[in-house]
Formats: sequence, C-alpha cells, structure tokens
Amino acid sequence: MSLIPDDVIEQVREAADIVGIIGEHVELKRTGSDFRAPCPFHGGTHRNFAVIPRKGMYYCFVCHAGGDVFTFFMKKLGMDYPAAVREVARRVGITIPERGPTGGGPDPREPLYSAVATAADWFARQLRESPEAQLARDYLTTRRLDLETVQPLGLGYAPKSKALLDAMKGLGVRDEVLLEAGLLAKREDGTLAPRFRGRLLFPIHDLRGRVVGFGGRILGEGEPKYLNSPDTPIFHKGKLLYNLHVAKHAMRKAERAILVEGYFDVLRLSLAGIEEVVAPLGTGLTPEQAQLVKRHAPHVLLLYDSDEPGLRATFRAGDELLREGLRVSVATLPAGEDPDTLVQKKGAAGLEEILKDAVDVLERKIQILDRKGFFGTLPGRRRALDRLLPTIRAAKDPITRELYISRAAEAAGVRKDVLEREAGMRDAGSGMRPGTPTHPASPISHPALPASAEKALLLLMLEGEPWLSRVTEAVDPEELEFPPYRAVFESVADDAVLALDDTSARAYEQLKAEGLGARDPNEMYELAVNWMEARRLERQLEQLDDQLPFESPERQASLIAEKRRVFDELRKRYPRYKIAKRRRGAPGT
Ligand SMILES: [Zn+2]
Repeated sequence: MSLIPDDVIEQVREAADIVGIIGEHVELKRTGSDFRAPCPFHGGTHRNFAVIPRKGMYYCFVCHAGGDVFTFFMKKLGMDYPAAVREVARRVGITIPERGPTGGGPDPREPLYSAVATAADWFARQLRESPEAQLARDYLTTRRLDLETVQPLGLGYAPKSKALLDAMKGLGVRDEVLLEAGLLAKREDGTLAPRFRGRLLFPIHDLRGRVVGFGGRILGEGEPKYLNSPDTPIFHKGKLLYNLHVAKHAMRKAERAILVEGYFDVLRLSLAGIEEVVAPLGTGLTPEQAQLVKRHAPHVLLLYDSDEPGLRATFRAGDELLREGLRVSVATLPAGEDPDTLVQKKGAAGLEEILKDAVDVLERKIQILDRKGFFGTLPGRRRALDRLLPTIRAAKDPITRELYISRAAEAAGVRKDVLEREAGMRDAGSGMRPGTPTHPASPISHPALPASAEKALLLLMLEGEPWLSRVTEAVDPEELEFPPYRAVFESVADDAVLALDDTSARAYEQLKAEGLGARDPNEMYELAVNWMEARRLERQLEQLDDQLPFESPERQASLIAEKRRVFDELRKRYPRYKIAKRRRGAPGT
C-alpha cells in the first residue's frame, strides 16, 4: 500500500479523464453517454468493453474485467497501486508529496486496517451466533430489521466480556495494534479492555470501502447511547460520512445526496432502494464532511427530524453545505416521524413524496419565521433578518446569494440594496462591523415587493394555461427587474426554456421545484398584477418629479394635479403605499 493520502487519491481520480487515458490504448467509440471498444484484456474483436465516464469506470461484458482508472493501469501495464496513482496524477498535473526516500514502501497503517477488518468479521459473527447477542438480535427485531437483511451491511455485536482480547490473540492481532486502532482502551490500572461492550456495531468505511472504525449503539440502559471509535491514524470522525463508500456512485447518478442524522435512517433508506444517503457520525456536519459531499453531488436534501433540535441541526448543516457552494433543500417529515419510521410505514414512495416537497433551505427558514409571526412587526422583521443573514452569508455560490438576498428582502420588506450591504458585512465575532447601526435595514420604503410579485407571476406561468396567457397579457417582460426572472419570463412565454443561460436556468429550476403549492392562483394573480401596476405608477411619479423643476409655473400646476391622480390610483392599488411613501415625503405633504 502507498503512503499517498486518501484525499489525494480521490482528487486524482476526480481529475482523471478516464476516456482520454483508456483511449490511448484502445480505440473508443461513443455510444450514448458511454464509450465502447474491443476489450484490451481478453483481446476480443467486438466492442464489448465499455468505459463509463459518469461512474469513472470501465467494464468488459465478456471477461468481466472492470475497475477505475487506477486498476486499468495496474492490469494493463502491471503497475502496483501507488505507481498507478502517481502515473495518473502526473497526467492530470497533481503533485503527490513524496514521503520518505523512495516514496513507496508499505503503508505503516496497514496493520491497523487489517486489525479493524479482522475485528469487524469477529463482531459480525458474534451478532449471528453468540447467545449473548440475542439482546442485539431482539433489538433489531424491534426496529423491524431482519438479521439476514443487515448481515451484508456488516453489522456486528460487541460482547460485554473481554472475549475480544482472547479472540484477537488467537487470530494473531497484537494488543498494541488494537489499542492504536481504538478497539481497546487502557484502564487506569494499566489493564486493557474492549472499547465497545454490549453494543450493536455499525462498521464505518472510508471512501475505498475499508472498515476504519465503528459506531456502537448501547443495548438496554447505559451512556452514551452512541459511541464511536476514537480518532486514530485511519479513523477521523469529522472527515468521514457513514455509507459514503456505497452512496457515492448513486449520488453521482442521482445528482443529489440525502443527508440524514442516524445510522438506522441510512440503513432503512438504502434497504428501501434509496442509495444516495449518508449521515455524519453522530455530530454536527463538519466543513470537511460538506466538502466530501460536494465531491459527489451538487445538491443536498436534508432529511432530519422536524422537532426543534432537528431544525437547529438542519440549519447548521445547511449553512455548512452552502459554504461549499452546494444547493441545499430541506425535506420536512411529519411530526414525530424520522426517516426510518416513515419508510417503514410508507415505503420508498412515501419518502419520495416528502423529498419532492423539499424547499430551499432559506425558504424553509422563512416559512418557519413566518409561521411564528416574525414578519408581522418591525422588530420581528429585524430579528427575522438576523436569523436569515447567516444563511445568506453562507451562500458561496453568487447566484444563490443573489436569489437569497432578493427573497429575504422581499420577505422582510426591506430594500434589496440595504440587505445586500448588510450581507456583505462580515465579522468573525458579531457578524457586523463595529459602528454599524443596529437598525440598518430600513422599514418598507418601497411599495412593490418586486421580487415577490415577479416570482408569483413566474410561478403562475409555470402552471401553464390559462395562467400563461393571462400573465403575458397583463405584464411585459421588461417590467421584471430581476434579470434572471426576466429571462425566465421571456423563455417561458416563448416556450424556449432550453435556451436559458446557467444563471437563469437555475432560477427556472428553483421556481419549478417550488411550484404553486397550496397557494390560490386567483389570489396570487390579483396581488401580483396589482404590485406590478403599483410599480408602474410609482415610476410615473418619479418621472413627474424629475420633470417638475424644469417646467413653467402653469405646467407645474398641471403636473402636480397629474401626480395627485397617479398617487391616488397607486393608493387604491396598494393601500400600504400611503404609509410607506410618506416616509420619503409623498406628494402634497
Ligand atoms: Zn474482456
């Protein structure tokens, strides 16, 4: 084994152009999304050899040779694993740090991998066979899991006794290695004891699928409920995700990851055929874990409990994922359910329903604040903004950030430029620069929450007829101020959605995903068209204001009369305008 760090290996694998590399050895022809060639291993003449760039894999349908870009070099050119990694790294321009004089040699961690693998097998056998493990088997029954079902997943049982020590001795695994691997702990009196006792064990794998540690659930009374392996040279709790070694392929394919809280949630979902599911190891999501997710999927669905602690964990994880530039949605489970119980009751189809209704993480925050009445009062809006700002600031992707600022400004009734400025202020401690006024976000000074009306119109258009015609008749695309929304308006009206640029396409997808929901289209149409009309009138007022100083006294009198008329019209359209406008000095005051 090599001394090359795993994350570097993954980086090289990610960067490698498998089609280009294998194409140097065989003549590949594209068939759909894959490439085909005569197999270079069994020397066939038909195109039975496939390169699947989406999965980073090759496979021969005749001799079943298969693997990734590294195994190709190993099998084709007889290289060992480190040499293959270095060869691919050289081609993609990744420098692999040389450690030690040769850069090769055996991995000093190899005994740890081997000890943990040996222990995992032994724990799994205990779960199957030991009389003491009846407790664990019964527990699985209460969670409605068959022993046969969980066996392939490597679940195990750690007895209460010190049997592990004797068993490992018999298998030739030394105590010092078990200690370093975190399977034994040294007591104060210097004696050794198994770390896991009387627990159901979930093996935790690294990206290459090697067992590197365990998560253990207590059976019966005892603390803590879950206990993990300690950090060791091969196990880093904050840098691993449960089930990622299996889920990563499905994540690529589905272009999404489902993030759940617990081992049982992962188990239940994957047994139901939903494979792109991972969980952090019993703690909040770390930046390293967010990066891991990002390497395999662009979009994360957070599926945590819907109670208060679950929501807090949801939003913390959401911000962490946004910081990596991921798209983040929140799926909401019915009260009292977790992913495990929901799938037990309603199956994969029931869960897909819930996932389908997932909303963007900022939108979910707004929903909750709205339900708690935050937007009803000025101080409430200020507090709501304070809760939205961390999420806005976390959004690394500029388009997401732009959409978030528009949406938050609209929800809290503040001007977008004001919020933009505040979102841009970042201070490690308070999140604000010293000297910033505590009320920088001014109260409503604009009648037409523009993004809201624009968004409402688009949501209606996306419902199809008759709304499409009604909206396009009432509103011109130029009236939409938010450029991506204007582009979406035009393309939907012209039935040319495929022509959208990336930014607008993303806005389009988010609108599509959101949908009208339970909202009443008639009411929405009424409100939105009124907003647009109010804005039109407001612009008219501004033009009149610009004109006034340059006119003759007679003409000024008639312009003022015109202003009064427009203003009355505006107030009729949107009664709140009166209050709002007066703050800035309405005409005639
Ligand atoms: Zn072959």
